[in-house]
Amino acid sequence: MKGRKNLHVSVLASGSKGNTIFVEIDNTLLLIDAGISARRINKSLTDIGVDIRDICGVIITHEHRDHINGLPTLCKKYHLPVYSRAATFKAMYCLEKLPLDCLHPIKENFQVGGLSVDAFSISHDAADPVGYSIRSSHEKCTVATDLGFVTSTVQEAIDESDVLVLEANHDQRMLREGAYPWALKQRIMGNKGHLSNDDAAWALVRMKKHNPYVFLAHMSEENNCPSVAKQTITEIIQRQGIKLGTDITIQLAKQNETVTLP
Ligand SMILES: [Zn+2]
Ligand SMILES: [Zn+2]
Repeated sequence: MKGRKNLHVSVLASGSKGNTIFVEIDNTLLLIDAGISARRINKSLTDIGVDIRDICGVIITHEHRDHINGLPTLCKKYHLPVYSRAATFKAMYCLEKLPLDCLHPIKENFQVGGLSVDAFSISHDAADPVGYSIRSSHEKCTVATDLGFVTSTVQEAIDESDVLVLEANHDQRMLREGAYPWALKQRIMGNKGHLSNDDAAWALVRMKKHNPYVFLAHMSEENNCPSVAKQTITEIIQRQGIKLGTDITIQLAKQNETVTLP
């Protein structure tokens, strides 16, 4: 695949029970979020032929437990550097368990190994939540999950990504008619909640450069299902003249299984 030979992305877990993504660009190896157990992260990495001791850093999007649950053990056992916003560190339930010398507060742009990482703000109900664009001179991988809505900042950040991990959390009708209490439905649907399939589709339509490889991520087990998400998103983008497989490739990330860039 043109332009992707130095890029490896595996979504190790994605969903409300835990999120972790592995990205390798130009021999720099990163984890984004550590929301599953350190044991499972280690095993998932071993399964794809990666030694956890080769990871250069863990970059954290926000402090919700489904993004940091494995972090204390990961730091204790492997002493990996952790990069995140200062307010996010402060808000972590497990902050005292993290070795101080592992913590690296970040601004909008920072370097890990040979890579440049942009942290861009997202609208979500956390202290200072961000998405990340990781780039080398040739490639760009962007992770944008836990989004209330796609702000212009997010839209700009996802543009020109070779690989994009984008939230497709819920089907609007399934959420509205489902069993969740009204307050929780409102939180998810609100501007600081999670992104619907429709909104994910429109973000893809609005991308300027096409032919990205997209992982649909953070899918709700209650208010979404893989076939519905894929159908909704495919219908919207095809109606706008975007061809699946030619202009864009879509893959569903999973909660309990690693999904890897081909
Ligand atoms: Zn969250
Ligand atoms: Zn989350």
